[in-house]
Amino acid sequence: MRLILLLAALILAPAALAAKEPVRPVTVLVGIDGFRADYLERGITPRLAALAKSGANAAMRPSFPTKTFPNHFALVTGKRPDRNGIVGNSMIDPRRPGVMFSLGNSQQALDPFWWSEAEPVWIAAERAGLRTATMFWPGSEVPFDGQRPADWMRYDQNITNVQRVNTLLDWLRRPATIRPAFATIYFDTVDTIGHRFGPDSAEVNAALAEVDTRIGELVDGAAKLGVPLNLVIVADHGMRATDEARVIQLDDIIDRASYIAVETGPYAAIEPVAGTDSRVYDALLVPHEHMTCTRKEDLPGRLHYGSNPRVAAIICIAENGWTILAGPPAYPVKGGAHGFDNADPDMLAVFIANGPAFAKGAKLSTFDNVAVAALLRAALGLPEDADADGKLADVKAALRR
Ligand code: AMP
Ligand code: ZN
Ligand code: ZN
Repeated sequence: MRLILLLAALILAPAALAAKEPVRPVTVLVGIDGFRADYLERGITPRLAALAKSGANAAMRPSFPTKTFPNHFALVTGKRPDRNGIVGNSMIDPRRPGVMFSLGNSQQALDPFWWSEAEPVWIAAERAGLRTATMFWPGSEVPFDGQRPADWMRYDQNITNVQRVNTLLDWLRRPATIRPAFATIYFDTVDTIGHRFGPDSAEVNAALAEVDTRIGELVDGAAKLGVPLNLVIVADHGMRATDEARVIQLDDIIDRASYIAVETGPYAAIEPVAGTDSRVYDALLVPHEHMTCTRKEDLPGRLHYGSNPRVAAIICIAENGWTILAGPPAYPVKGGAHGFDNADPDMLAVFIANGPAFAKGAKLSTFDNVAVAALLRAALGLPEDADADGKLADVKAALRR
C-alpha cells in the first residue's frame, strides 16, 4: 500500500509542480484614442481611476502632430513622427510622386513602405522569441521586415468594444505555449464621439463610462483566468473644442491651385505646386492672425519635426481651438479636434501603468510619449533601444523598485 502511494506521488508530482508554476504576466498595451488626461478626473471612470491610483499615472505629452497615426506609432516605436516615418494621418513622399498616404486610403495605409522607418515593439518581442497579438493598433496590420505579430487583426471600426475585449480575453485564455506575452487593444469611440460632440459633451461622458466598463471587464476577466496583467493604458492625444466662428480660410490668403493641402484642420501641411514656390512662401510665411506658418526646416526644435522628407514644405499651426481650412470644410467645424501644438494642455493624453512590473501609487510628472516604448520593453524584459527618442529614465518612476 505504501509503495503504491509512493509511486502515485512520484507520478503526480511533476503535474502538481507544473500546476503551481506562476503564470507569466502578459503585458497589455491599451490605446484609448483621444482620452484627454483630465477626463480621468471627471468621476465617471471608476475602473480607470482605481488603476491610476493603485499604479502609476501621468498626463503624457503627445508628439507633434497631435494626430492618431503618428502618435500610435511613436508609442510603440519610441521614435517621434519625424523619425518613425508616420509624419501625419495624411502624408506624401517625394519617392512616391502623386501618391497620398491617408488613414482612409487602405491601399497606401496597408503598404509596408510607409511603416518601414521604425521597428514596433511587437516585432522586437517576436524577434526575442515572445509571442505577440494585436487587437488593432495603427501599423500592426502591416508586416515589418516581413514579420507580423503572431495574431493580428485588420482594423474594422464596426467591431464593437465588447468584441475587442472578448477577443483579447480569448487570447489570454489560451494554454501558456500559445498565449501572447504582449498584446495590444485599441478603442476609437472616445475620439469619434469627441470629434462629433466636443470634449465637454454628455456624449463624451457616456463614451468614457462605456470604455471604463470594458476595461473593468478586461481586468476582471484576466483575474478570473488567473493571468496577471501588466497594463499600460494610453491615449494618443487629447481633444479641444472647435467651432465655425474660429476658422482661418486659406482661400483668403492664396489661390488653391498653387499648393497641395496634405493636411488641414488644427495644423496644415502645405506643399507648393512646382513652379509656384515663391508665391506660396511669400503669401504664407508672413504673420497671420490665429495661425503661424513656418518652413519645415525652421520649426522650433521642441516640436522635433521637419527633417523627414515626408513633412510638407510649409507647416501652419493654428492657435489653440482654431481650424485652418482650404476651401469649404469636408464636414462642419464643430465639436472637437486635435492636431494642435503638442504644448497645448488640452492635447495631453492619459497614461496609466498597473501590474506587477509597475510602481504602486506613483504620480509621474509629464513626460514625452516616446518613453512608453521603453517602458513596454522593460516590462517584457527586452533591452532598451539606444536609438529611440524616448528613454527609460523618463518613465523610471513608473517601474516597480
Ligand atoms: P483621427 O482622425 O486622428 O482622429 O483618427 C482617428 C480615427 O482613426 C478613428 O476614426 C479610427 O476609426 C481610425 N483608425 C484607427 N486605427 C485605424 C487603422 N488601423 N486603420 C484605419 N483607421 C484607423
Ligand atoms: Zn487619435
Ligand atoms: Zn481624432
